[in-house]
Amino acid sequence: MTEFAKKTPAYVGREHGSIHKSECRQYSTIEQALGDALAAYGVTGLAIRADGDVHRFDTADKAKGNRNGWYVCPSLEVAVYGFWHTGEQHTVTTGSKADPAAAAEARLAAMRAKEQRETERRQQQVNTAEQARRWWAMAGAADPGHSYLTKKRLAPHGLRQRDSALLVPLFYDGELVNLERIFPDGAKRPLFGGRVKGVAGLVGKLAGAERVLVAEGWATAAALYEAMNVPVVVARNADNLEAVARRLRQHLPDNITITLAADDDRFTDGNPGVTKARLAALAIGAKVLMPTFCADCQRCTDFADVALCRKEHGL
Ligand SMILES: [Zn+2]
Repeated sequence: MTEFAKKTPAYVGREHGSIHKSECRQYSTIEQALGDALAAYGVTGLAIRADGDVHRFDTADKAKGNRNGWYVCPSLEVAVYGFWHTGEQHTVTTGSKADPAAAAEARLAAMRAKEQRETERRQQQVNTAEQARRWWAMAGAADPGHSYLTKKRLAPHGLRQRDSALLVPLFYDGELVNLERIFPDGAKRPLFGGRVKGVAGLVGKLAGAERVLVAEGWATAAALYEAMNVPVVVARNADNLEAVARRLRQHLPDNITITLAADDDRFTDGNPGVTKARLAALAIGAKVLMPTFCADCQRCTDFADVALCRKEHGL
């Protein structure tokens, strides 16, 4: 699959969670066995501690400080290690231990690592939500002359601003849990460590609405709101459309129509915008609204592009 996976040496299990004794060579210590296995992934120089605790380390394929790698040595004969971002998990043994016992130890150790990871993740989400609420409370209204807004020819629609970044408040169960920052160059980033799955922004107001749209980006949502005067939920990206649509359908009364407003990624393989919007629509029995492009336009892919294109052509 990736470069990362290709480095897998012959003695490391390729199957998820499989146990492989070191077939090529025997190791006298578990530290050596694990050190060798990790070196094959470009991870070197770790002071491996076979103390039964879960230890984290940086993987070579991501930025410094990523702590995507983990290992545990539940005994002096077995080590389990894995990578959170790929979901990979492997076991190495010194070769002296019977496999069933090693497998049981490894399974328990891996469960422990996962629980620890989950606890850390939840705590980080709580911390980030607090940061989001603090930043939001301290931020002033967005400057209507912010270059992202002027480039897109959109009003701020209640956004706030911190330094040069526009802040889009993101909600989960009605609570502000994260902020999407939109930078002048159009780059968009949520706060580090915050909840993202199922989290959404909103342009307009849900109260009193008969129809609600769900779109990917904030600009698309704002353009749709300006054109149609219905509230538009911001799912942020195609992969989050279904989770957001499902949550919205659960929370809104049945008589409120939900429509998925797709980005038409017509120049991208597999058209993720349309594909994911259709899947989300299917999941909640909703319809999909597609942007209609101006004739001969080889640029526009979403509702915000189309609105801008029309304004630029004086339509
Ligand atoms: Zn166009």
